[in-house]
Formats: sequence, C-alpha cells, structure tokens
Amino acid sequence: MLYLDNAATTKVNEKVMQEMLEARYAYGNSEAKFYAPAEDAKKLISLARQRVANIVNASPEEVIFTSGATEANNLVLKGSYWKNFRQKNKIVISSIEHSSIYDTCKFLESIGAELAIVSVDKTGMLNLTELEACLDEKTALVSIIYVNNEVGTIQNLDAIDEICKKHKVKLHIDATQAVGKVNIDISKYSSLNYITFTAHKIYGPKGVGCLIKRNIEDNDIIPLLHGGEQENGLRAGTLANELIVGFGKACEIAQLDFNDNHRKLIEYENIVLKKLLNKFGKRMVINNDFSNRIAGLLNIRLSGYSNMVLLKSISSDVAASTGSACAVSKPSRVLQNMGFDETTINESIRISISPYEEISNFDYLDKL
Ligand code: PMP
Repeated sequence: MLYLDNAATTKVNEKVMQEMLEARYAYGNSEAKFYAPAEDAKKLISLARQRVANIVNASPEEVIFTSGATEANNLVLKGSYWKNFRQKNKIVISSIEHSSIYDTCKFLESIGAELAIVSVDKTGMLNLTELEACLDEKTALVSIIYVNNEVGTIQNLDAIDEICKKHKVKLHIDATQAVGKVNIDISKYSSLNYITFTAHKIYGPKGVGCLIKRNIEDNDIIPLLHGGEQENGLRAGTLANELIVGFGKACEIAQLDFNDNHRKLIEYENIVLKKLLNKFGKRMVINNDFSNRIAGLLNIRLSGYSNMVLLKSISSDVAASTGSACAVSKPSRVLQNMGFDETTINESIRISISPYEEISNFDYLDKL
C-alpha cells in the first residue's frame, strides 16, 4: 500500500520507537525525588525538552508538553482569553484555520469573545491589510496557521509579526504542519509568543505535543488543567515519559533530515504528479499549484470523480484523504474560503507524501 496521508498522521520512525521502548526502564514519576527511576525519567524528559525546543530555537524551559496540538491550541486560545477578557476580549484568526483553532474560537465567541476572521486569497495567503485593520486596543491575541494542513500554504510570518509588533499584540502560530518542513526560529520574531505543534506529524507517537511559550515567567495564560505543578503550573498531570521521549527523538531526526527530506519530497511529488497525469490527463488540476507552499502536499481535483467514491475505491492500494481528518463530515471550509466552488471541493483530494516512502511503492499509483 502507498500511504499518502502523512498530513493526517505519520508512521512512527523506528529510531523513535527504539528510544520509546528504552524509556520504559525510566518508569518513575519525573517529579518525584531521590530514587533512580525518577531521576532517570527526569534526565530523559530534560533531553526531550531540549530537542523539542531546538526545532524552533526556543529554550527548554519554554516547552509545555500537552497531549497534542489540539490541546495546545485550546490552551493558548482559552488560556489567553480567560486571562485577558476583562480588558481585551478580541481574538483574530485566519479563515483557513484548523478546526482545533476555529471551533475553539467559535466556542469562545459563544461565551463573549469578539472574533475577527481575516480572509485569504486564492493561494491561501492572509490579507495583511485586513489583518492590520482588525487590530485594536481590545485585541489580546492573533492566532494564525503557519502552514495550512489542506493546501500547504506557508504564511508570511515576517510580515504578520511586524504588524503584531506595531500594534503590541501577541502572536500565536499553529506550526503543526510546519515543523520539519519550514525552518522556524522563534528568536527572530518579537511578537511571536506562542507556537504549538505535535509529534505524530513528524514520525513521532500520537498523543503528545507542545506549546512553546515565550517569556515563561509572564503569567499571561490560565491553564486548562488544574491540580499539579507540572509544566510551570500550566499543564497539571504526570508527564507521559515514553511519549515525550519519542517526541524529542522525532524532533531531533526532523532537524537532522531537514534538507534531505525537502529534496526527497520534491522528487517524490514529481513522481506522483507524473503518474497521476498519465492516468487522469486533462481531468487533473492542481488546486495548490502555487510556490508559497510546502513540498510534498498536493491538493488535486480529478474532475468527474467524486472524491469520497474515488478514495474508497482505491483504498486497498492507496491511502489519501479529502482534507482534514479532524473535520471529515463537512465540505472543506479551507477550500471554500480560498474561493473554490462546491463541485471542485467534492472532486478534490489531498495527497501528503512521506520522505521516508519506499520509491517502489509509488508504483501502486499505476494500478489506479
Ligand atoms: N493543527 C493542525 C494544523 C493540524 O493539522 C492538526 C492535526 N490534524 C492539529 C492542529 C491537531 O493536532 P493533534 O492531532 O496533535 O491534536
């Protein structure tokens, strides 16, 4: 089978699995004192924290481990809203956010937040004039998806940061689809206060992610979970040693393999496109045929084919999807907000390639 749904989740890397298995011997509670299994756990977690911080050039103490990006996004949005709403109740997002941002903001709106949703152009790029016009003295947070999960658009972070800096508003980026594919250096951006991402998109385990919170001493968010001092009091609960170790290793590998992976993704993308063109000819249109996107993520329309019927019929040979795995029941809000019509959306699929794919597996596409 050819697995082309790596934007939904990835297969755990063998070296990651190995370190996770080793971590079972450090079974202590990393917060406990004096005895060896706890000290061992502490050391492993501290190494993982450093590796996770490295991938965005943050400091280890700025890492708050969570159960994934959904929780980390909830923590930033709700935490910041609950902290600020008496003075500043406005949140600004883009119209192509992942559901973990969009639905959370809609919930906050239902309890009193003012929500501004900034539009994007046909390539998914944020309208910066509109963004700037939204920022006022009531704005507590701007939250933007750095790399979109359905079309791969990479936002202009320099420009967004400049605008937030000018208006003294804190910026959050959901970097779940960006880590390992786009270089992120948190120190370059003065308003970028929060970054969230997850292990399972970079060949790490499911169930662990993080919030990188700059200026950790600033008491600027309220935790979702109370009842423990872990993670600077921002995420109570015993740390998931094995998952965190896996997350750390996945980040280390993603950094080491960064250039190689980029080159391979371009190569593999061309293989996939060639094979699909052979099969579908003029019926194939690349919805994200623009340069401001990550390599390896294709959003493709196959006209005349219902995406659901097609994906089901090829599912024993090729795994792909219609878009976000977190919002499967509705037509893509992302494509809609980029200006695509309903027919196009219903005939479009997302292909997301792994740089670790066996080249011979691409031959499954010849069977379509
Ligand atoms: N944000 C984006 C952009 C995503 O693609 C995803 C994963 N679908 C998430 C957040 C949620 O991540 P997790 O599965 O770790 O909760």
